[in-house]
Amino acid sequence: MTATRRPRALVTGGAGFIGSHLCERLLSEGYLVVCMDNLSTGALENVAPLLAREADFEYVDHDVSDHVDVPGELDEVYHFASAASPADFGRIPIEILKTGALGTHNSLGLARAMGARYMLASTSEVYGDPLVHPQHEDYRGNVSTTGIRSAYDEAKRYAEALTMAYHRHHRMDTRIVRIFNTVGPRMREYDGRMVPNFIRQTLLGEPLTVYGDGAQTRSLQYVDDLIEGVIRLMKSDETRPINIGNPVEYSVREVAEMVIELSGSRSEILHQPLPEDDPRQRCPDITRAREVLGWEPQTGAREGLAKTLAWFASGAKGQTRPEASPTLRGEGS
Ligand code: UDP
Repeated sequence: MTATRRPRALVTGGAGFIGSHLCERLLSEGYLVVCMDNLSTGALENVAPLLAREADFEYVDHDVSDHVDVPGELDEVYHFASAASPADFGRIPIEILKTGALGTHNSLGLARAMGARYMLASTSEVYGDPLVHPQHEDYRGNVSTTGIRSAYDEAKRYAEALTMAYHRHHRMDTRIVRIFNTVGPRMREYDGRMVPNFIRQTLLGEPLTVYGDGAQTRSLQYVDDLIEGVIRLMKSDETRPINIGNPVEYSVREVAEMVIELSGSRSEILHQPLPEDDPRQRCPDITRAREVLGWEPQTGAREGLAKTLAWFASGAKGQTRPEASPTLRGEGS
């Protein structure tokens, strides 16, 4: 009889918003977890309670764009490292391109050497400013190769291509999750995205900065739903990309109004210019996730926003970067 070994997973970007929730979930499933991060946009506070679990959880301070070496066995690699706020696209575009290109290459190479199953965290941004609505995985997108968002969009498109090349050429067992807008505790207060901005602004009694006329749409999923989809996808044998997002779509103005209502604040709406290449609409077609994973979101946008608001209001906020505020909306926006 052979003793059963606990599965061991590497999560790059494990100290980030989504990565830290993934680490937590893997630990609760009995995994040993190696969390790799360079704290560029992640924060040690996000994994502070996990650091105490020394026997199960290991934190490695490392930039995945540099050669990656993780001693010991690995069963699964989750490549979730990347800055992902549009504000970051103008602030650190080269770092983002390197994480999507070199970071994906390094983590794929590690997974291959270890015989580990691999998951790439991709994004709805691969659809760009979509001309097809809602976005099914077969839609090839409408992305500017040179615009302000291209650092992220093209990095992720390249990362998907590289993952598929390893899958086909090296017969690696790979997964690609296309993540749509996600909210929840541990979002960066000053990351410049819509939800942290609106929540911070209502809590401070400041006007909510709605870019453009606010008619552009997004679909907000709660982080726990995303993680459930990620876990199910990794356990499945689906190697095609799969959308994980909430298919209920709201205009940005509606999101602002919801946040104001939920917070009971008297904040008003202040319109500001629409950033360059801001997608006009975004909504996942989740037929594939429903059929293949039996997955669909359990938490509506209102409830997800309420939970996120409660976390911010509790003062638990995680990483704050007031010094980043002058570039919050990125260059050229
Ligand atoms: N947005 C806004 N006010 C803000 C921040 C963002 O109106 O303070 C808008 C932004 O123009 C976009 C939407 O909200 O249309 C979602 O932006 P976010 O930064 O969350 O990320 P995206 O979904 O564009 O990647």
